[in-house]
Order: sequence, then structure tokens, then C-alpha cells
Amino acid sequence: MNVRDSEHMIAELNSKEPYELTQELKEADLIIINTCSVREKPVSKLFSEIGVFNKYKKKNAKIGVTGCTASHLGKEIIKRAPSVDFVLGARNISKITEVVEKKHAVEIDINYDDSTYTFGEYRSNTFKAMVNISMGCDKSCTFCIVPATRGDEVSIPSNLIVGEIQKAVDAGAKEVMLLGQNVNNYGKYFTADQESCDFTELLQKISRVEGLERIRFTSPHPLHMDDAFLEEFANNPKICKQIHVPLQSGSTSLLKDMKRGYSKEWFLNRCEKIRTLCPEATISTDIIVGFPGESDENFEDTMDVLEQVRFEQLFSFKYSPRPHTKAAEFENQISNEIASKRLTRLQARHMEILDEVMDAQMDREHRVYFDELKAGGKISGRSDDGKLFFVEGSEELLGKIVNVKVTKTSRGALEGIVCA
Ligand code: SAH
Repeated sequence: MNVRDSEHMIAELNSKEPYELTQELKEADLIIINTCSVREKPVSKLFSEIGVFNKYKKKNAKIGVTGCTASHLGKEIIKRAPSVDFVLGARNISKITEVVEKKHAVEIDINYDDSTYTFGEYRSNTFKAMVNISMGCDKSCTFCIVPATRGDEVSIPSNLIVGEIQKAVDAGAKEVMLLGQNVNNYGKYFTADQESCDFTELLQKISRVEGLERIRFTSPHPLHMDDAFLEEFANNPKICKQIHVPLQSGSTSLLKDMKRGYSKEWFLNRCEKIRTLCPEATISTDIIVGFPGESDENFEDTMDVLEQVRFEQLFSFKYSPRPHTKAAEFENQISNEIASKRLTRLQARHMEILDEVMDAQMDREHRVYFDELKAGGKISGRSDDGKLFFVEGSEELLGKIVNVKVTKTSRGALEGIVCA
């Protein structure tokens, strides 16, 4: 989502202001640091980066801070780092051309609605297009800062989404990645005139775009994984068979404290349904360890879900207390030492599972969509189920979907040869 926000800002600056991208810091007249704030680390990194940019930038180059840390720190950023010229919140990206010329402008209104705003065209990769389908979040997970930085949930009208995808396809994209905090809650809130359309119906509309071959989306919420959605996922040939099902914790009582809205049993039931309807699908997840009050028993529930679902991909984090969240005020915070031990154990067990998953890929064939040239005569792409592939090859494979047979496996990626 942040990458797409950056593309939107680049597009606006390209089309309405005389800016173009440079890879050379010393050449830049404008430096934009687009930030996350889900965990604390990116926030401290922001201030050290501002220091580095100040040291090496051109004398009069401007610095702007945008995104979620901008939303929640606002003018505090300029107080702590007076060299920053403007601050633009995650919900205010469309105002980039307004603030760029205003010294010390701060635009961080989280209720600002640009769900029908049509941005200029810019994509860092012409073969794969990211497209926002909703903004903000309607949940109140007690650990999460996102609702305070990205505001209320609003869905983007489906005709705008389909139109944007058609444009990207006309420009060479065969694959689209739909983006939103809870994509499968799509259609609950529209601010513009729009006939009713839920996520399953949106997927059906999008799959009618001619020339589009692959649809991905992130992230869906386990709570909204109804049968109709999972059946569409399994049966629609354009939908890639890779699904993110963010667990957070395997303990029903902790899930309640997190205000996730589902239980361990519901989560397991949804994953079992995915495995039954679509055995070839890969499932990825997010897990937080050391959430306040997490007992050994609670953590064992998380390990149990890992064991039962055998996620093909795991994003795991130590709980990080965030401002504007309920859990930061909870009394029973877990020590860093215990959280670290749990994270290490979780990740070590997942590595073993991953080794088995990847080793089993040897000699298998996948349909790979090649989208990036790599050094040393290699080209990379992804299989339908999201595995990263490296193959010897060059331009003639770019933008093509071809069968590849796996010749070498590792945890992070597969190597293979193109089948005749
Ligand atoms: N809307 C998505 C979450 C996006 S944030 C969802 O509901 O699943 C991406 C991930 O960051 C979350 O899934 C969670 O695992 C992690 N995360 C969010 N807040 C966190 C915190 N305070 N500490 C540690 N990890 C956190």
C-alpha cells in the first residue's frame, strides 16, 4: 500500500509539477520519505534518515515526510527536524502538489476523502499493477495504529477500479494486485453513488477485463472469509491461488483481547475450507508474539495453528506498543526476553516447515509470469501460487507466462528451466 502511495505521489509530481525521478540523491531537488508506523522501528529510522539526507542532499533540496508516521506525528516532525519542509498524512496523498511549494505545510486529516480521486499515471513495473480498492480501516484491533493514521474505511467505486485496471492492462500488465486493509470487506462504505457490490462481485467484474490474466489481493480479513468468497477464490481461474490469512494469535482469549472478531476454531475452519476447495493454494499469515497477557499456554495455541495449517509463508513480529492503541495501555506487558524467545521458536519451526514445502517442489512444473530482469543473465517471476522463480533468460521472456520446471530449491526462491 505504501509502494502504491509512492507511485501516486510520483504520478502527481510528474504530471502537474516539473519533477522527474532520479536515483541520485545529490541530484534531487525534492526528497520524499514515505513512512510506515505499524511498529516503532520505522519511526526512529525516519529521524536518522532525515539526518543522512541533510548531510548529503543538494543545498536547497526540500525534504517531505509522508505516510502513516506523518499522520500520527504531524507537526511534531517539523519540531524535531526543522529541515523538513512539509508533512503529508497517508490519507492526504492526493494533496502532494499543493504542499510541495508550501513551507512547513502539515496536512494530516484522516477523514479526508479522496476515494474518487483519479491520480496521474505512474507504475514502477508495467507488467504488474497495484490498484487500491479501499482506503482506511473499520476495525479496532487493540494493537493496531492503522485506523488512527489511515482513517475510516471507504471503498473506491467499482467502475473506477475496473477502469484503472483496464488502463494498466492496455499498458502491458497481465497481473493486478488489489490493495486494502481488509479487501474482503469491500463495498460496505461508499461515499460516491455506487450500486451495491461486495468483494466477491468486484472480483467477478475485474475478471471480465480482457487481457487481464492474474488477480491477486492483500490483505483479506479472516472474519470476512465467507463461503461465497472462498468458492470464488477457488473456482475463478484468474484468481491466483495464494491467500493471506492474518492470524495474529492462535489463542481465542488473546484474539478477544486483540478485538479480532474470530476464534481459533473459526480460523482453522477457514484454512481447512481453503485447503479442501483448493489444495494447490498457498496460505501466508501474520503472527504477533508477546501481545500483553500472552501466557505460555496462549503461545502454544499459536504454535498449534502453525502445526495444523503449515503456512507456506509467515510474517512474524514481536508486539510493539503503539500510540493511539488500547493494548499499549494494558497492564500485563510481556518482557522483551520472553517475546524474543517465542519469536525465535516460532520462526525456527516455520523454517522446518518451509524446508519441507520447498524441497517438495523439486521437478514440479509451474506457470511463471516473468516480470523482472536480473543480473547475470537471469530473469525472475512468480508462479500462480506466489513462489519466486529465477530462470536463465532475457527480454524475450519478460511479460510472458510460461511453464517452468523446478531444478533447484531453497527457502526463499526456486530455480528452474523453461519447458519446451
Ligand atoms: N489490516 C491488516 C493489518 C495490516 S498491518 C490485518 O488486519 O490483518 C500488518 C501486520 O503488522 C499485522 O497483520 C500485524 O501482524 C502487524 N502489526 C500490526 N500492529 C502491530 C504491533 N503493534 N506490533 C507488532 N506487530 C503489529
